[in-house]
Amino acid sequence: MSEKFQVVVIGGGPGGYVCAIRLAQLGLKTACIESRGSLGGTCLNVGCIPSKSLLKLSEEFHNVKGLANKGIEIGDVKLNLDKMMKNKNKAVTVLTKGVEFLLKKNKVTYLKGHGSLKSKNEILIKDDQNKETVIQTEKIIIATGSVPVSFPGVEIDEKIIVSSTGALKLDKVPKKMIVIGGGYIGLEMGSVWSRLGATVEVVEFLDHITPGMDKEISSEFMKILKKQGMKFNMQCKVETIKKNKSGAVVSIVDKDGNKNNLECDVVLISIGRKPNTEGLNLEAVSLDIDERNRIRTDKNFKTNVENIFAIGDVITGPMLAHKAEDEGIAVAENLVGQSGHVNYDTIPGVIYTSPEVASIGKTEEQLKELNQDYKVGKFSFMANSRAKAIDDTEGFVKILAHKKTDKVLGAHIIGPHAGELIAEIGIAMEFGASAEDIARTCHAHPTFSEAVKEAALSVDKRAIHS
Ligand SMILES: Cc1cc2nc3c(=O)[nH]c(=O)nc-3n(C[C@H](O)[C@H](O)[C@H](O)COP(=O)(O)OP(=O)(O)OC[C@H]3O[C@@H](n4cnc5c(N)ncnc54)[C@H](O)[C@@H]3O)c2cc1C
Repeated sequence: MSEKFQVVVIGGGPGGYVCAIRLAQLGLKTACIESRGSLGGTCLNVGCIPSKSLLKLSEEFHNVKGLANKGIEIGDVKLNLDKMMKNKNKAVTVLTKGVEFLLKKNKVTYLKGHGSLKSKNEILIKDDQNKETVIQTEKIIIATGSVPVSFPGVEIDEKIIVSSTGALKLDKVPKKMIVIGGGYIGLEMGSVWSRLGATVEVVEFLDHITPGMDKEISSEFMKILKKQGMKFNMQCKVETIKKNKSGAVVSIVDKDGNKNNLECDVVLISIGRKPNTEGLNLEAVSLDIDERNRIRTDKNFKTNVENIFAIGDVITGPMLAHKAEDEGIAVAENLVGQSGHVNYDTIPGVIYTSPEVASIGKTEEQLKELNQDYKVGKFSFMANSRAKAIDDTEGFVKILAHKKTDKVLGAHIIGPHAGELIAEIGIAMEFGASAEDIARTCHAHPTFSEAVKEAALSVDKRAIHS
């Protein structure tokens, strides 16, 4: 007789493992299937965590070289890439093992192997020795995440033509790297290799980077990246990518039809990610997918099959780890009759470059499109005393508030610790706060968060320090 569970989660990423832990906390007999050999999904293994490790270390490498100008002379600064990679790998191992410990602690059964649907209550698991097991379950949560997209006919070898996964483990610093796609993954990885010594050139189809971001922030971001040495080919389409003896040639054409061949030793293709439904055998239960191959769900994450649910990158919405986690918790709570809920209006997005960029809620462009009257408050880090004190003054805070009610509708920050500062606005928005609520909250001095307070004051044109 095969083992029987109340709920089985397929996929051990931030959506899946968090969901499994919450289900077990709520008293359900739960299993989590993961095919990768380690838990934590894209995020911990080949995404958020390794990229942030390299971003931090490469930033330190870059900064330390500039310290002599500030009176700290420490001689020759050399890069040991091998050690840097080992450090990154250590962070990944510690965290993925930590998730394994958490599953155990919460009594979630961790099943290693590839899961596929055999019927609506049976899952076939094939392990890395091709041994097959079938388990029974009352309910199924699909949390199989996403995988990188490439161009048709272009093979990603993860050495010369790489996805983000290859860009996280290059064994030497490329002389020249072409990044195709000016989204957050390309710009983060481009920043890493640029700081370590590569010449980085971005090819972007649109006329702006980071699509979907508030345009004013996106323009400022591009200006800063250019100042850091990154080059941009905007409104350019990639025609071919061909490997040669020394690396690769990316042939591009701009909006006026001018062609250009960009030679490089590494090409990073970061043009997006697609939902991962490969090998799930969705046909066995006639599970609905949409035109972009995402599993279709209702607002309670239920698919067209009564007992099957889906969350995270494999469904609609921003492909972000915290969005997947929150959906994991919401679906688990819904399954025991609680009111699990995700507020899609307050999901922050952060780009961990230097300076960081962070957004929440509506952009100015979206408010215009909605015909929503709004007020804008802005405050530059140039006028923030903490930023001044440590000479980290690039960027600004922008808060958008409802014209009549003053309710905060969105906030966009480019500057030091933007990824941490945005959390304050997230809480404010969850509580339906007005810009004045933020402005009247006492903020410690001297902190970067005072720039948030001043931007909130500036919504009603009463900032003090500008
Ligand atoms: C380079 C990079 C940097 C990123 N940085 C950030 C960041 O800073 N912040 C952020 O919020 N997001 C970031 N992301 C995005 C983030 O990693 C994803 O949004 C998040 O991991 C999605 O979680 P998930 O649980 O839906 O899927 P995943 O994390 O993709 O996990 C799905 C898991 O399911 C497993 N799986 C798939 N099919 C099966 C099957 N049939 N059987 C068993 N197991 C299966 C996969 O092996 C995988 O481990 C980054 C992504 C990349 C690539």
